[in-house]
Amino acid sequence: MDLGLTNQVALVAAASQGIGYACALKLAEAGAIISMCARNPERLETAASTIRERTGATVWSLPVDVTQPDQIEAWIQQTVDRFNQINILVTNAGGPPATPFMATGDGQWQKGVDLTLMSVIRLIRGVIPHFQRVGGGQIVNITSVSVYQPIPRLLMSNVIRPAVHGLTKSLADEYAAENIRINNVCPGYTLTERVQELVADKCKSEGVSEAEALAMFTSAIPMRRMAQPAEIANAVLFYASTLSSYVTGTSLLVDGGFVKANL
Ligand code: NAD
Repeated sequence: MDLGLTNQVALVAAASQGIGYACALKLAEAGAIISMCARNPERLETAASTIRERTGATVWSLPVDVTQPDQIEAWIQQTVDRFNQINILVTNAGGPPATPFMATGDGQWQKGVDLTLMSVIRLIRGVIPHFQRVGGGQIVNITSVSVYQPIPRLLMSNVIRPAVHGLTKSLADEYAAENIRINNVCPGYTLTERVQELVADKCKSEGVSEAEALAMFTSAIPMRRMAQPAEIANAVLFYASTLSSYVTGTSLLVDGGFVKANL
């Protein structure tokens, strides 16, 4: 099946591991050219070369901290200099830290906003002129189930991520006529490297086996397991491809049934 992704240039942010990596790999498998970033140069290049070896795709990487506007601009410009165009943007970053409300000062809130909201705004603002030049493009934001249902302790995620969905609805409306689509993928618990560390910590702190620690995390998930990163990437592939050609301004939960609300 032709997904319309052959030689499309995809920017994938925060892609050295976890969900971002799975998205870059999935898009490369579907024929896209990948420009990926993350902060740590060694881990990033290892991830990029693994995708190259596994798919034969063209994969280029640049160390970028998505909280730094000048680094975002440089990544976008260097991608266009190299590949002439950008067709797809996947926004992603590490999650904001878990902080109790009364212990969270203005500086921490600002950092959370820079990481979770402003990075998305700046990436989108940077690619839109390039999308307009080639007659359209696709934006997929990685957000979270916290948009629909607050996650205990993840205050900043619960507060800031809904703003990304507000941004998505606004921009979907503003840019639909220019063939620019924007949608969100909302993962539930996903077994990435970061979550594997949380499971390992739980094993130590509670003196339980890995299976028992996992069961503590998954007891509230109807499917009783976490997602694999590739299952989140499948949803990103849908939004980035022509399979979703009439879909914009939407959000897809990939959460094993975790969110109970009537949406
Ligand atoms: P992860 O920690 O495994 O990977 C995060 C990636 O982001 C890494 O490549 C890291 O290098 C990169 N990164 C972090 N901060 C960055 C920055 N400032 N600039 C550039 N790159 C940066 O995380 P993950 O589990 O893959 O999660 C990805 C996103 O999805 C996060 O925002 C997370 O909160 C969200 N999410 C994850 C889950 C889950 O269960 N894994 C569930 C819901 C939402």
